[in-house]
Amino acid sequence: MATFIKGVSDDSWADYQVSAMLMAMFIKGLDDQETADMTMAMAHSGHQLNLDIVPGIKVDKHSTGGVADTTTLILVPLIAACDVPIIKMSGRGLGFTGGTIDKLESIPGFETDLSEEQAVHQAKEIKMAILSQTDNLTPADRKLYALRDVTGTIDSIPLIAASIMSKKIAAGADAIVLDVKCGSGAFMRNERDARALAAAMTAIGQQVGRKVKAVISRMDQPLGSYVGNSLEVIEAIEVLKGNMTGDLLDVTLTLGSQLLCLADRCKSPDEAGQLLRDKIKNGEGLNCLSKLITAQKGNADVINDYRLFPQAKVRQVLAARAAGYLSSMRTADIGQAFIETGGGRKKKNDTIDPAAGFIFHKRLGDKISAGESILEIYTQSEQQAKTAEDKLRQAIKITLEPAETRPVMIDLI
Ligand code: URA
Repeated sequence: MATFIKGVSDDSWADYQVSAMLMAMFIKGLDDQETADMTMAMAHSGHQLNLDIVPGIKVDKHSTGGVADTTTLILVPLIAACDVPIIKMSGRGLGFTGGTIDKLESIPGFETDLSEEQAVHQAKEIKMAILSQTDNLTPADRKLYALRDVTGTIDSIPLIAASIMSKKIAAGADAIVLDVKCGSGAFMRNERDARALAAAMTAIGQQVGRKVKAVISRMDQPLGSYVGNSLEVIEAIEVLKGNMTGDLLDVTLTLGSQLLCLADRCKSPDEAGQLLRDKIKNGEGLNCLSKLITAQKGNADVINDYRLFPQAKVRQVLAARAAGYLSSMRTADIGQAFIETGGGRKKKNDTIDPAAGFIFHKRLGDKISAGESILEIYTQSEQQAKTAEDKLRQAIKITLEPAETRPVMIDLI
């Protein structure tokens, strides 16, 4: 495995040779040892963050992505408020999934391009940092991902597990909690695949001596009620102010409880969940968000004045045409509708509108009267709102009878 990854890193293997190897891996699979070896070789293919100067057990979190998954923006300040250091490298949104870096950049002035040195020093001072993934982290993964993308070999559990875990390991944390999503707005559409990916990633943790837990959660609808870059920051602020409960808070508390136990800060998930709730109640979580924004040169006044965020010119209600129950959402299609508002990217270098998105007023299982608002669309033009509306109407189903709703949390591995 080391020879293969070295060949990828120093370009001594031609693309056709690497692609042939990837296809063999895709078809035959990898065992746990091979997956761990590939992960470590990729983790060592570039720079690794050295967090030694930050005292304590350092933690990190990863979500396999989805729509309105704003857990990082709530979790990072809450964990720091519990005195546990958390350093998180994040990405931008692409396709139907959002990205933490785009969300944070909707805060005026906020800088995400921290050097590794800046991030580590900031984590030493205030116990937290969120930065864009640096170019020199896991270059082998970047090359392999680009080839997998064009050779139809993305959809392989060991290759996905090695790709995600190599980045987490290179980012240096001692303990990692993974949120593996499944459902209509997730990379893994069904529970069986989500479980297999979670098992593959926790097995890598065991093989390479990092503490890893995986949570499996549902993405049958947007996780939060706000979809969009500044809108999701606003929702995170509202959760930290104690003004919002529901699936987004529940998933955040589950992930946070696991992190606090892995960091030996709490003895049980119940104790940890209580501590996290206390940090919301006493305002320390919100205070930490303010510290994070200020440390990364953003305007922390946004916390008390949402008008400081970029604003949408058009706000249009999408009302139900008939009474019934909200029975299903094709969540990936809601993510595609979000792209039509101007808030997401079709191609890697597209510019995005930080103000665009949706605020949902209803969730799965809710009763709706004819003419009642399901959600509000935020855009800069009537045309964008219209295109998004057409897609949303196709993605959201209202039925006369209520459909069964399922809890957001599935399991812990
Ligand atoms: N995300 C990653 O980082 N890598 C994959 O292979 C798939 C999703």
